[in-house]
Amino acid sequence: MTWPAGLAEELADVYRDLHRHPELSGHEDRTASVVEDALRPLGYEVTTRVGGTGVLGVLRRGDGPVVMLRADMDALPVAEKTGLPYAATGPLMHACGHDMHTTCLIGAATLLADMSWKGTLNVVFQPAEELAAGATAMIDDGLFERFPKPSVVLGQHVAPLPAGFVGHGEGPLMASSDSAEIRIRGRGGHGSRPEATVDPVLIAASTVVRLQSIVSREVPPSEVAVLTVGRMQAGTKENIIPDEAELGVNIRTYSAAVRDRVRAAVERIVRAEAAAGGAPEPEITWGVSAPLLVSDPDATRRTVAAFAEHFGTERLIPMPTVAASEDVGNFGAAAGVPTVFWFWGGLEPERVFAAFQSGDLGSLPSNHSPEFAPLIEPTLTTGVETLTTAALAWLGR
Ligand code: ZN
Ligand code: ZN
Repeated sequence: MTWPAGLAEELADVYRDLHRHPELSGHEDRTASVVEDALRPLGYEVTTRVGGTGVLGVLRRGDGPVVMLRADMDALPVAEKTGLPYAATGPLMHACGHDMHTTCLIGAATLLADMSWKGTLNVVFQPAEELAAGATAMIDDGLFERFPKPSVVLGQHVAPLPAGFVGHGEGPLMASSDSAEIRIRGRGGHGSRPEATVDPVLIAASTVVRLQSIVSREVPPSEVAVLTVGRMQAGTKENIIPDEAELGVNIRTYSAAVRDRVRAAVERIVRAEAAAGGAPEPEITWGVSAPLLVSDPDATRRTVAAFAEHFGTERLIPMPTVAASEDVGNFGAAAGVPTVFWFWGGLEPERVFAAFQSGDLGSLPSNHSPEFAPLIEPTLTTGVETLTTAALAWLGR
C-alpha cells in the first residue's frame, strides 16, 4: 500500500494530540472537530452532531456498494500511568485506545480518498462507546435514513496483541453485557443493638457470595458467563448499622438463553437474601446493556481473506471469544447488514510472545488499565491498512 510522504508522521501527531486530550463519553467535542478538520479537505461530505458528538463523512464515487467504516472516540475516567511524554495529565485517559481507532480511521479515510474504487464510503466516528450508547444514538438520529445505508459495517479494536498483528474470529466475538444497580434496604441503628436493626451490610455480604454460585451452579459447563460485583457500598462508621447497602453487578454472556437465565437468577438471589435477612423488598435496576457482538461468518471470511493477501497469514492470529463488550453490532443490526469486527495488536511483540509462552498474560497491560498505551508504530500503520484493506474488499473496483 503506497502512503503519501509524511502521512504516517502527520497521523502520529494527530494520535499524540488526541491522546493528550481525552474526553468522556458523550463529550467528544474537541475530538469531533479534529475529525471534521481532517475529513473536509479530503472531499468528504461531513455531518457533525449526529447522535450527540458523532461525525459522519461520506465520499461518493458513483454506483456501487456502500461501505461503512466505524471508529469510536471516547476516553475513560482513569488517571494515566504510562509515563509517556504525551500522556494525559488530568483524571481522564484514552485507556481503551479509542484515540488510536479515531486516528486510524482518519488515516484510512485519507488513503481511500486517494485510491480508485466505485461506490460510497461512509466513515463513522461514534461517541460514547464506553456507555454502549453512542451507536444507538447515531442510529436514532437517522444515520441510515438521512445518509446512504451501508451493505456492510466494518470496525476494529486495538488489543494487547503483538503490534503489527491482526486478531480475527467469526460468529460471537464479544459478550453481551448487562449491569444492575441493587439497593438493599435495612433498618439502621446503634452497632451495639443489632436486635433493633435490619443489617443491610450482612445481607449485602451474603448476596455477593451467593451471586457467585450462579455461574458455578446454574450455567451449564458448556456455556460461558461472567458475573462480577464491582461495587459495594454501605455505611459511614464502625458502630453505626446503616439503613441501606448498594451493589453494582455486571454480567457477560454469549447467548440470549444464558443471559435470561443469569439475569433471572440475580433477581431471585437478591430478593431471597433480603427476605432471609428480614429486609423489605430490595430495588433492582437494570441499566447499561451492550449487545452480543457477532462478526458475520461469511463477511468475516471475505474480509480476513483480504487481510491474508495484504499482510500474509503469518501476521494473522485466530482469536477466542472476548468477555469485553462493544456496541458496534448495533449498526449492522439496525441496518440489517453484516458487521465485521477484528482486533489488532498494540504491544511490543517480544513481550507478548514471552507472556504467551510463560502463560502469564496477566502481566500485559490490557485495555482500561492506566498503563495501557499502544506503541505508535507499527500499530498506527497496521490499523490504517486493516481498515483500508477491509474497505477495498467490499467497495466496487
Ligand atoms: Zn473500553
Ligand atoms: Zn474500547
